[in-house]
Amino acid sequence: MLTNDKLDAWDRENFFHPSTHLAQHARGESPNRIVTGGSGVHIEDRDGNRFLDAFAGLYCVNVGYGRAEIADAIAEQARELAYYHAYVGHGTEASITLAKMVMERAPAHMSKVYFGLSGSDANETNIKLVWYYNNILGRPEKKKIISRWRGYHGSGLMSGSLTGLELFHRKFDLPLTQVLHTEAPYFYRRPDLSMDEAGFVAHCVAELEALIAREGADTIAAFIGEPVLGTGGIVPPPEGYWPAIQAVLDRHDILLIADEVVTGFGRLGSMFGSDHYGIRPDIMTIAKGLTSAYAPLSGSIISDKVWKVLEQGTDENGPIGHGWTYSAHPIGAAAGVANLKLLDDLNLVTNADETGAYLNESLSSALSDHAHVGEVRGEGLLAAVEFVKGKDERVFFDPSEKVGPRIAAALLERGVIARAMPQGDILGFAPPFCLTREEADEVVGKTAAAVSSVLG
Ligand code: PMP
Repeated sequence: MLTNDKLDAWDRENFFHPSTHLAQHARGESPNRIVTGGSGVHIEDRDGNRFLDAFAGLYCVNVGYGRAEIADAIAEQARELAYYHAYVGHGTEASITLAKMVMERAPAHMSKVYFGLSGSDANETNIKLVWYYNNILGRPEKKKIISRWRGYHGSGLMSGSLTGLELFHRKFDLPLTQVLHTEAPYFYRRPDLSMDEAGFVAHCVAELEALIAREGADTIAAFIGEPVLGTGGIVPPPEGYWPAIQAVLDRHDILLIADEVVTGFGRLGSMFGSDHYGIRPDIMTIAKGLTSAYAPLSGSIISDKVWKVLEQGTDENGPIGHGWTYSAHPIGAAAGVANLKLLDDLNLVTNADETGAYLNESLSSALSDHAHVGEVRGEGLLAAVEFVKGKDERVFFDPSEKVGPRIAAALLERGVIARAMPQGDILGFAPPFCLTREEADEVVGKTAAAVSSVLG
């Protein structure tokens, strides 16, 4: 067996890690955790440490670690047929079954699902389809895409442009010129503290209207948003936000893409965030929860309205010129089928709803009164605690103090993984849906201890 030291040396010599400080890592200044196993909400590393993973990997291992049902489905599929493509009408039992299962769960006005591999590539697909749609409709000028500051939609060329976090643009020449960003529905960080929720929603709507007026509605193809802002800070929308935004988009004939990569398949305690907030999307992005990350798989769910135009486009132009070698990969599809069955069989969406409410209430009662906790917020099994220097005046810490990362590190020392969100001092929680109340108590108790250790 390879020693940990050997693996560490190989890692630093050879492995280009995503979202990592490359220079520090190569110099050996940042930790290198080698993860070996997982069961339920726990993972283990090669040093023999065991952690309660209150972020489910990257909010993706929704059914929890170590599910034999999914592992067996993957193994069986790999033995039977590891791969065949899905071009020109090909499929496998797994991919066809999964498409049916996804569409049974999707809102009634949705028509078809296209399978990709990651949330990023699904959003690349979505924007290509939106452009194709408007070309077929004879509106070649209607191409710009509106996203929100603090939105996260991936890190490809287009998906990274849609992302509204500065770190993902810096030095990459992003965003691409077709992408525009508007106000994030982030009530706690509203520009004027005297605004109430309704006033802030009106402000978000006014900002969107002004952007559309400035650019011209006939140049804007689509608006993309996560039902709950995720990587940008885990921020549920203010009351009334989605209906108000949807009304503006409908009025200007702008398509709505709901990026459900985090919220899809139960994280909010509803099957989709669109169900949860009454959003009527034209396209939905799905990934993470589709397979609970047992294999890479994503999807673009297309509405009847868009589908009809895509069909017309192929009648006029020939087959759709878009496809990945691994679209609808049989192993991913087999994982997806087993995963969605498990969600149903174990009532995990209900658990996300109930245990999520419990986790959110417990976090709130343990931390809301702390002098440096500005806000505790969440929905379903998503939660966040935002730290501030001055609570009454809402003064943020200087990023150089690294308050969020220090609290996440103090929590890790206590055996719990939460995520220091990339912009702001925000600790995020998104545990697997099988979390129990006892485990939620452990998360909250250790979080309170970690917060006290850093902020008193
Ligand atoms: N959309 C959302 C809402 C996401 O949270 C993410 C990933 N965190 C993505 C898209 C991109 O997914 P991937 O990392 O699989 O490309």
